[in-house]
Amino acid sequence: MDMQVQKTLYHFVNGQKVEGTSGRTGDVFNPAIGQVVKQVPLASSAEVSAAIEVAADALPAWSATPPASRAQVMFAFREIVKNNIEELAAGLSAEHGKTLEDAKGSIGRGLEVVEFACGIPQLLKGEMSERVAKGVESYSIRQPVGVCAGITPFNFPAMVPMWMFPVAIACGNTFVLKPSEKDPTCPLMLAQMMQEAGLPDGVLNVVNGDKEAVDTLLSHPRVDAISFVGSTAVGEYIYQTGCKHGKRVQALCGAKNHMVVMSDADMDQVVDAAIGAGYGSAGERCMAISVIVAVGDDTADELVERLKPRVKDLVVGPYTDAGAEMGPLVTPDHCAKVRSYVDLGVSEGADLVVDGRDFSLEGYEDGAFLGGCLFDNVKPDMKIYTDEIFGPVLSVVRADSYDEAVRLVSDHEYGNGAAIFTRDGGRAQNFISNVRIGMVGVNVPIPVPVAYHSFGGWKRSLFGDHYMHGPEGVRFYTRMKTITARWPEAIESGAKFHFKRGSEDN
Ligand code: NAD
Repeated sequence: MDMQVQKTLYHFVNGQKVEGTSGRTGDVFNPAIGQVVKQVPLASSAEVSAAIEVAADALPAWSATPPASRAQVMFAFREIVKNNIEELAAGLSAEHGKTLEDAKGSIGRGLEVVEFACGIPQLLKGEMSERVAKGVESYSIRQPVGVCAGITPFNFPAMVPMWMFPVAIACGNTFVLKPSEKDPTCPLMLAQMMQEAGLPDGVLNVVNGDKEAVDTLLSHPRVDAISFVGSTAVGEYIYQTGCKHGKRVQALCGAKNHMVVMSDADMDQVVDAAIGAGYGSAGERCMAISVIVAVGDDTADELVERLKPRVKDLVVGPYTDAGAEMGPLVTPDHCAKVRSYVDLGVSEGADLVVDGRDFSLEGYEDGAFLGGCLFDNVKPDMKIYTDEIFGPVLSVVRADSYDEAVRLVSDHEYGNGAAIFTRDGGRAQNFISNVRIGMVGVNVPIPVPVAYHSFGGWKRSLFGDHYMHGPEGVRFYTRMKTITARWPEAIESGAKFHFKRGSEDN
């Protein structure tokens, strides 16, 4: 397989690399040096339509392929990804900036979804009832939805596409992926690996692009379902527009994940958890902890004192530095946006306990780096509290009581993840029951469910009815059909003009 780094990228349609013809391209940065290193073609509506037609043409044969045969492709794909994980991770980190270990970890989480999809024959089994009436059986089957589209964000260029296409394709659908234009290399590599694993041409296609490409996917009559992961503003638009065009849509969106710390928590564990979950991947995770709600001033004082040196001492560097704990932000623009939020927090009156704005690294002066930032005394009406910042900025909010803490978490517009740190089982149980959040951790800061459970948030963190992967993923990518059958020996002559309950038949 040809995976050499190219200056100008391509689309991947019908099993082939396809050059862009729109004449429009986007810049792909190496954020560690702050330089544009590649161009990505931005597809025209006509190019996207062509890819959709290819996926539609591939649908009849693929959906008729036995699930066990589809699973064989997933088994082979898993091996290829595992064997090429270093190369994939390097391609990912070079454009995203995250450390290699983190990149490999995220590909590993994507592989778990592939492993889940390997079990597709079992997952597609329906339900059957015999003798629902005299000589009548009733059963349900799950069939593919059709042509599915995936629109994915920059922060997990391998894992998030792998939340989608392995499940969709194993269910018998064909797929058009529109990855983030900020780091498109890794998704292209994955599509080529699926091909190498034996996937027929046209079943998985990748079109690079921006709003024009997305709008075509949202309105094209041959697209049946759309999976989106990204920011809330875009996700809400995608949900509304896709639904208006009669498509099934799931849109997983932005977040502001809180970690509630009770006075009885193990503080060593809390500090480690907050550092890893707040600053890992430079805070560019939809499940990153961005707010700590410390219950009681003593808890807050101790926590801030212990976090301060840890945030100051974070090792920030390029992905090529094996010792780096945190890389740059994805682009210079995003870095400037995050930095402006830190400025805003200061002007809003929060206490900036650790200021990472003057961070600089010799040899990487133009890189999109920002040191870790820590705010104390953040108030719920501040923009740094209400908005998703998506950077290495952690806010401490002080609450007087557990009830106040739960209210804060529940009232926030986002509802992706939340964690409570406590030794009190009853308190944890109360939190699990009452907090209005989709994914809850107890002494676990980033409660991302394993692949055989489903991932999704509440409130404005998800539009649509289905979470991703796990059983909800299979439901999203399939339609249920229910069958009621009576065989000739049991058919009585004479027309029937009224409904009967099965129990009336004996
Ligand atoms: P984004 O919304 O800017 O982009 C996501 C996708 O939408 C990209 O493919 C992009 O090309 C496309 N897009 C951007 N603007 C568009 C527009 N106006 N019209 C149509 N399409 C458009 O998100 P991002 O910055 O790439 O990713 C970060 C965001 O993703 C954060 O908000 C983060 O919380 C969220 N995210 C959520 C989850 C989750 O599971 N809930 C997971 C990962 C990331």
